[in-house]
Amino acid sequence: MTQILLQAVRLLDPFNGVDLEGCDLLLEDGVLQEVGAELKLPPSATLLRREGSVVAPSFVDIHCHLREPGQPWKERIARATAAAAAGGFGAVCGMANLTPPVDSLEQFRRSQRDNQSWGRVRVLQFAACTKGLAGEELTNLEALARAGAVGFSDDGRHGMNQERLMEVLGRAGALGRVVAIHPEDEALLVLANRGMRDPGQWHLRPPDAEISAIEKAISALRGTPGSRLHLQHVSTAGGVDLVRRAKAEGLAITAEVTPHHLMLTGAGGDAGPADPGRCNPPLRTESDRMALWEALLEGTIDAIASDHAPHEAAPPSERSPGFSGIQLVLSAVLGQGGALSHLGRVVETLTAGPRRVLGEAGASAPGDGIRAEEPASLTWFDPNQSWTPSPQSWLSLGTNTPFWGEPLKGTVLATFAGGRMVHLNRELVPELAGD
Ligand SMILES: [Zn+2]
Repeated sequence: MTQILLQAVRLLDPFNGVDLEGCDLLLEDGVLQEVGAELKLPPSATLLRREGSVVAPSFVDIHCHLREPGQPWKERIARATAAAAAGGFGAVCGMANLTPPVDSLEQFRRSQRDNQSWGRVRVLQFAACTKGLAGEELTNLEALARAGAVGFSDDGRHGMNQERLMEVLGRAGALGRVVAIHPEDEALLVLANRGMRDPGQWHLRPPDAEISAIEKAISALRGTPGSRLHLQHVSTAGGVDLVRRAKAEGLAITAEVTPHHLMLTGAGGDAGPADPGRCNPPLRTESDRMALWEALLEGTIDAIASDHAPHEAAPPSERSPGFSGIQLVLSAVLGQGGALSHLGRVVETLTAGPRRVLGEAGASAPGDGIRAEEPASLTWFDPNQSWTPSPQSWLSLGTNTPFWGEPLKGTVLATFAGGRMVHLNRELVPELAGD
């Protein structure tokens, strides 16, 4: 029997509205036995104590690209989910834009098998809204939901016209599933890129493309009562404003933001392929970035999502858009001035927020609150400890991150998911490293 006493931590549990200093947690073979103040140390238990450390429910990432099957040179499920565990995540949502895409029952089952075989943490699989993500023919949403799809998304593309988007929203809504969209109006992207129709050639991605897509999606949502819409990686002040108004109107809309859009600014979509900070949607201006923070803190934005997008190393002009970053989500956010004073809200957007986006379909993700006598699903982290993404510490196969070699604040010490310790920082927790 292995017993661990986590002593004098700050317990942050947004599911139960708990924010308490000086909590002890006793774990026995992965089960959380007791939570309280000044618990007695059992004779055979390992004592873990670290000033200023925090325990929260294990995080859920609602937007992750695992690249397998199809592009194993970019990322492996095993590597991405190990990086996720090291980032404090107990579950991740895999997007459908694999090669081939998850647009049939056959592909869905294959992904489920692969996720189960290789995932270090639970992978909740999304299915595509349309065949080949082309925006034309809808997938068999009903069969995919029955097989376990937690939601539907054509992420990477947004090719559906209004009529199809409404049909997907209606059918997914009837199944209790959320529809997550990559809000960039493709007609406007074609225009901005001098009429080029091939998405691979779109380098210019103006803010208007996002704002237009969000406007249209909100109108589609309004026309399909009972459905739920989720906006992925909102990046503009204008986009955030539309979400705020839609929520005030009572629409079932949720939104996410990525750590890179919260932390970095860029050319705002006006730079070409050589932009070293290139991602879709692009990094925007300082006033957009500030608007995202404000929206996150006030609750207009529900979740922080990694949009983990690992790629192989390449010269700047040939680099594919996106960042590999699931391991540093917490640190990227905590590195922001003032984020620590909103730690409760930050943790909420990594736990209860993403769970709310998934609705009842997220019930199979571990970590819906800290409760005694249940298998532990929790993240233990030190918000003040720094670490540096480097070949020694980095677990994803993709090293395409603007934070490479940069010291970051906020280190995950251990992650438990469903009663299993899925990550341990051996250097900082030598007491358990020998186990
Ligand atoms: Zn996307």
